[in-house]
Amino acid sequence: MDHFETDTVIAGAGVIGLAVARALALAGQEVIVIERETLIGSHTSSRNSEVIHAGIYYPQGSLKARMCVEGKHKLYEYCAARGLNHKRCGKLIVATTPEQVAELEGIKAKAAANGVDDLTFLSRDEALALEPHLKCDGALLSPSTGIIDSHGLMMSYQGEAEEHGGAIAFGTSIERVEVTGSGFTITTGGEAAAVVTAKRFINAAGPFAPGLADQIEGLAADHKPKAYYCKGNYYSLQGRAPFERLIYPVPEAAGLGVHLTLDLGGQARFGPDTEWVDGVEYSVDPARSDGFYDAIRRYWPGLKDASLVPAYAGIRPKLNAQGEPAADFRIDGPDAHGIAGLVNLLGIESPGLTSSLAIADEVAKQVG
Ligand SMILES: Cc1cc2nc3c(=O)[nH]c(=O)nc-3n(C[C@H](O)[C@H](O)[C@H](O)COP(=O)(O)OP(=O)(O)OC[C@H]3O[C@@H](n4cnc5c(N)ncnc54)[C@H](O)[C@@H]3O)c2cc1C
Repeated sequence: MDHFETDTVIAGAGVIGLAVARALALAGQEVIVIERETLIGSHTSSRNSEVIHAGIYYPQGSLKARMCVEGKHKLYEYCAARGLNHKRCGKLIVATTPEQVAELEGIKAKAAANGVDDLTFLSRDEALALEPHLKCDGALLSPSTGIIDSHGLMMSYQGEAEEHGGAIAFGTSIERVEVTGSGFTITTGGEAAAVVTAKRFINAAGPFAPGLADQIEGLAADHKPKAYYCKGNYYSLQGRAPFERLIYPVPEAAGLGVHLTLDLGGQARFGPDTEWVDGVEYSVDPARSDGFYDAIRRYWPGLKDASLVPAYAGIRPKLNAQGEPAADFRIDGPDAHGIAGLVNLLGIESPGLTSSLAIADEVAKQVG
């Protein structure tokens, strides 16, 4: 079996692993990303809403709030500097009952506590002046919300990492990680089965990260949380949607509600809903569309019958079970578990794409 030595091994070439690879390669480290699939972004990073979130809903002081707000600013700057395809289109959070209008005040206050102070309250008439096809009793306008070509972003991170000496080993699965006194011994399987020794090991395996943390010999059991999965199904709209902005209902328990997002070509898709599942699989049950028509017609009564087609699904990597309070991101570095050079990135669900540059900087700070 081949044997390699490097500064840093990163598990996973999703948006988080690639952002971390870029940050550490720019800092001068020799980085190898090990990816089980044959392409970048084969899991969560290509199965999401591609929204640059403002940082509205997350509890004050949480990692999600901090990483999202910091990440959003960094991401807009990065897109501008690298000429990446994105659009600051804004979004409306719509109240469809008088009770929800009262909830909008709470959402606005939560956002302000996170440093997002640009939300404006719109009366029904003001909202309809912006989006005439909407049905609502009031809305919040978030001007800093946008959309991004997530694949272009990942290719940019990959390109910069490679320009600075980084490499990706595709079709290679990390099977086992051993903590040694001086770093890590990483055993891989697949096309390029090998043993790699590294000073640092970053677990950015997305929904598989808790399982990989469990494979780390020398990491205490209380740093190996159980994984839970919540599928989000999407349906796309046949024909064009009459909206310029993203339209979100007031959020629900495990997700942000069935919202309308637009891709950069103006095509509309609806989702994600919430379906708790036992493992990672991405089929979309056509029968779930009934719930979509009901949810969407609360804010867009003009949605025509038979206009939604099943599109794709993503899996939210959860650290809480259904019904439990939403868990925060975990960026478990040496301060958490006492092992120099190790970071486990756990529960990186939404807003992970928006947060990717901020998370990468945090990892670099912990093991740079
Ligand atoms: C339905 C949904 C909607 C979302 N919408 C948004 C949004 O609009 N805006 C936003 O900011 N965020 C959003 N997110 C969150 C965002 O998509 C994720 O936070 C982000 O993509 C996570 O990236 P990742 O690199 O951690 O994981 P992934 O993209 O899943 O990458 C992990 C990689 O690790 C690899 N891997 C796993 N195990 C191993 C192993 N043992 N060896 C080698 N490789 C391995 C996998 O093959 C995979 O490629 C959404 C998420 C979901 C599920």
